[in-house]
Amino acid sequence: MDTVQNYKCPCCGAPLAFDGREQNLKCNSCGNEFSADTLEQVDSSDSKTGSESKFDWTHYEERHFEPADSDTLVSYTCSSCGAEITGDGAMGAAVCPYCGNSAIIKSQFEGALMPDYLIPFKLDKRAAEDAFKRACGNAPFLPDEFMDKNKIDEMTGIYIPFWMFDCDCSAAVSYSAKRLFSWCDNQYNYVRTDHYRLFREGSVAFENIPVDASKKADDTYMESIEPYDYSEAVDFKTAYLSGFFADKYDVSVEDSIERANARVKNSTEAAFMSTTDGYAAVVPTGSSLSTSNGKIRYSLLPVWMLNIKYNGQIYKYAINGQTGKVAGEYPVSKSKRNKYFAKVFGIGLAVMLCAIWVYTKFM
Ligand SMILES: [Zn+2]
Ligand SMILES: [Zn+2]
Repeated sequence: MDTVQNYKCPCCGAPLAFDGREQNLKCNSCGNEFSADTLEQVDSSDSKTGSESKFDWTHYEERHFEPADSDTLVSYTCSSCGAEITGDGAMGAAVCPYCGNSAIIKSQFEGALMPDYLIPFKLDKRAAEDAFKRACGNAPFLPDEFMDKNKIDEMTGIYIPFWMFDCDCSAAVSYSAKRLFSWCDNQYNYVRTDHYRLFREGSVAFENIPVDASKKADDTYMESIEPYDYSEAVDFKTAYLSGFFADKYDVSVEDSIERANARVKNSTEAAFMSTTDGYAAVVPTGSSLSTSNGKIRYSLLPVWMLNIKYNGQIYKYAINGQTGKVAGEYPVSKSKRNKYFAKVFGIGLAVMLCAIWVYTKFM
């Protein structure tokens, strides 16, 4: 047997030796055998998954409002939470969508960036209130007076800014995986573990990966009211803002790119992972991604915001202005909850007594 110095065992890293009889390369350390073809495949997959990931986003092209648009728009500043938002001049006695404060100050509109597109509000205020009431109906142990005391008519519609990322992603991922076989004879139980090196290569197209561009809008709320249906997106026109606020971005494109890259990477790796059924203990050992046709656009998504003061605490709700999906936490009535558990405990006790009765009867 000659040792082939160039090849190392893909399983344990020991040098491989050529077995002339089998026409294979054999590892004397772990006992595995490999054909030359297999080793070449491993080599090429290693070089593919070992290279550094490259994310290529063409720079975002800024667009600015026309002077005619700027004339109809007004800037609002909240004296309580500091939110700076845009609206048309006719917003009247509106409350701050982020904190519910009614002292918001009008000022001259300052040149914000013009969005490329938006999804218009599909739910009017009445429909959004209905969606919220339905969500409250499903909240466990909600205090009865919560719905009576709150002012859900203070709900405010606001367009939240998002950076939208499109790209094609090519990726290569390698995994280590196992298959276990077990059997037994009269004397022993046996387990055989086969080890595999898996390799996946392919491409995934992404459209409208949203990254929240507003620091004021809580990311967890925004992500939990997703998804939006982007087939209903339209080119931006100032008229869509009528009757609504629009927040300005305060997270730059540059700061959002990292988040977009992470979403592309996670989604691609999850899509590839879903093709490794049939193996156990699948662990990624290397991955390399590269994106092309990267495009970034500035967009607005519709959200109804509601702040409810209850028992000295503020409960915040965000409602998807297109689908009515609600995000937020609900107060819990202790007396309702205690009553419920007392009832469940009562039923449990009754079942136990029954069981004891059956048991003693058949003794
Ligand atoms: Zn080995
Ligand atoms: Zn505020």
